[in-house]
Amino acid sequence: MKFCRFADERFGLVRDGAIYDVSALADRVVAQQPRVKRGDAYVAALPQIARAVDGADLGAPVARVDDAVLLSPVATPTKLIAAPVNYQAHIDEAEADKGITFNHAVARIDQAGLFLKATSSLVGVGEGVAVRFPERRTDHEIELALVIGETCANLTRENALDVVAGYAMGLDMSIRGTEDRSMRKSIDSYSVLGPWLVTADEIADPDNLNFWLKVNGEIRQQANTNMLLRDVRHLIVWASEWYTLYPGDVIYTGTPEGVAPVKAGDVMTAEMDRIGAMRVECRAAATAPVLANSAR
Ligand code: MN
Repeated sequence: MKFCRFADERFGLVRDGAIYDVSALADRVVAQQPRVKRGDAYVAALPQIARAVDGADLGAPVARVDDAVLLSPVATPTKLIAAPVNYQAHIDEAEADKGITFNHAVARIDQAGLFLKATSSLVGVGEGVAVRFPERRTDHEIELALVIGETCANLTRENALDVVAGYAMGLDMSIRGTEDRSMRKSIDSYSVLGPWLVTADEIADPDNLNFWLKVNGEIRQQANTNMLLRDVRHLIVWASEWYTLYPGDVIYTGTPEGVAPVKAGDVMTAEMDRIGAMRVECRAAATAPVLANSAR
């Protein structure tokens, strides 16, 4: 099944290009589960929600997916984990392009380790990317992303896929420069997840998915997850050795070659096997002061 969040934090089932609002049903299911102290209660209850949805009278769809504002399918992850330099051809292009590396040696993934992106950078495809610092280079990085479904740690290759709630496409948007990755990749809206979450039962082998990304209709990135240097199981095991993983935690698996800049006004489109298609608009980030308490 495909689950999304849309409009004002509604919970939806995606079927045949339409969205059914299953918020009330999902709320009831979540209320019956043990309280989730860390992470996303809806992701934790996804198998139970899927069972409740199956065979329920869903009524009429409330929107076409093309018309809805799709939010991140995960609302409250505790962390966004990401793999750097996980495709050989991307390492090669980075080493050939000072605009990517800024003269830093490209460390191999086993030495570089995983990195974390701020959860406040997470958006859905309908929210778009707000390009910050337009004088600098903001690159797209299309990646397979997976969402953890339960609290877990110290996993093995044999049980690694058992903890996956579902899969989505991820955009690990990145400012190029000398700053630490956690700074350059944590800007508001620089972690896109979507267009929805495809439950893990629909993707038996995440290590064999074709995908591509276009900017303004022009192909930029195209690869298959079978080219990952460290595969999906490896990344889950590795992350779980360092951190307890919680429901809703996201792992971005790394990007292939073809990363390139985007600017305000650009439109990114992407497709991935078994997940679907998405459209993400780029705009200029707002730079006016924001103070939540305007009376101060
Ligand atoms: Mn990346």
